[in-house]
Amino acid sequence: MEMGQIGALPNGGCCRAALSEDDRRGRELFMSWCRDAGCDIRFDAVGNLYARRPGRNPKRPAVATGSHLDTQPHGGKFDGIYGVLAGLEVVRSLNDARVETEAPLDVICWTNEEGVRFGPPLAGSLAFSGGVAVDAVHQSRTLDGTTVGDDLRAAGFLGDEKPGSRALDCFIEAHIEQGPILEAVGKTIGVVTHIVGIRWSIVTVTGQDSHAGTTPMNKRRDALVGAAAMITALNGIARNQDEYARLTVGKLQVYPNSGATIPGKVTFVCDLRHPDLEVLDALEKRMHATLRTLAGERDLELAIERSINIAPLRFAPELIDVVRQSATDLGYPNMDMLSGAGHDAMNVARVVPTAMIFVPCKGGLSHNEAESATPEDLAAGAHTLLHTLLVRAGL
Ligand SMILES: [Zn+2]
Repeated sequence: MEMGQIGALPNGGCCRAALSEDDRRGRELFMSWCRDAGCDIRFDAVGNLYARRPGRNPKRPAVATGSHLDTQPHGGKFDGIYGVLAGLEVVRSLNDARVETEAPLDVICWTNEEGVRFGPPLAGSLAFSGGVAVDAVHQSRTLDGTTVGDDLRAAGFLGDEKPGSRALDCFIEAHIEQGPILEAVGKTIGVVTHIVGIRWSIVTVTGQDSHAGTTPMNKRRDALVGAAAMITALNGIARNQDEYARLTVGKLQVYPNSGATIPGKVTFVCDLRHPDLEVLDALEKRMHATLRTLAGERDLELAIERSINIAPLRFAPELIDVVRQSATDLGYPNMDMLSGAGHDAMNVARVVPTAMIFVPCKGGLSHNEAESATPEDLAAGAHTLLHTLLVRAGL
């Protein structure tokens, strides 16, 4: 709740865009808590923050946890923040119990998960996994006209460690579910097994602009009417697939967007998600074929551009087992589940064994100021995280 005061919004949420003044203040607060808990703090070259609780054996790779402290413009108090502070709570609990671990523990705050103020989103974890060059992150322009490199230097978050050079034994990210499933079935812990793959198709439908009053209904090449039929058909394809398929058209541009002109061109973005690569491929093929058929029937031209393409990800089976066992040993009702959202963990998983722990959030709501979770559920997630990290770190 104290972290939530920084960048606080009127309806209970937070706005801390990455490397903004409020994000800097949030990180400073977190660092002060970490120092009080005896942690040593380092930054890498893209500003990822590593708070280390030393272990008995400094040569052992660190057992790592964490998430992000930056938020959406109308974000909540929990998305990302929970995972970072759950890591801090693990450190504090070990301090309170005077428990020393064999391996060091790292609590990580990744830079720019949300991608609000500059791109790419998930920049810090992407750089850690080698998915983007440090220079490219530094040269990225922020909405305020600065470069990320300048912002990192000004905030004091520019370290010289090469992202990804730090040896990690594993990475476990705790996060609110951001969906309604755990709450609906009355489970406390989600053992995340996969993150769904994401494909974007940018679809442009072209007909002909013409006068709304003089063009008979049967003489029109109305791109918007065509797009409406397409969007409805695409929705049906996903509905008829299985419970894991997700297809969303959330962005539509109509040209010339004038009340008295038949729309000659429409562009829309189609966001397709599924945890199984073969199904994702098949769905995408069926979607594109349907779009072509509907365009042909209406004498419309069609262009499809593929943009985002993220493969589905399966977390490390040996870590999934440890998370499930920890939750079960602690008596928390738990279930295996998928993540439909992207997370830093999906990047880290390309280079380090990784898993995630979900806890319920109220009404499944996230990226919303009303985002909420109960202290009991949050404690259960942190408790599961503690036991999972201890299995890996060794006593
Ligand atoms: Zn998040």
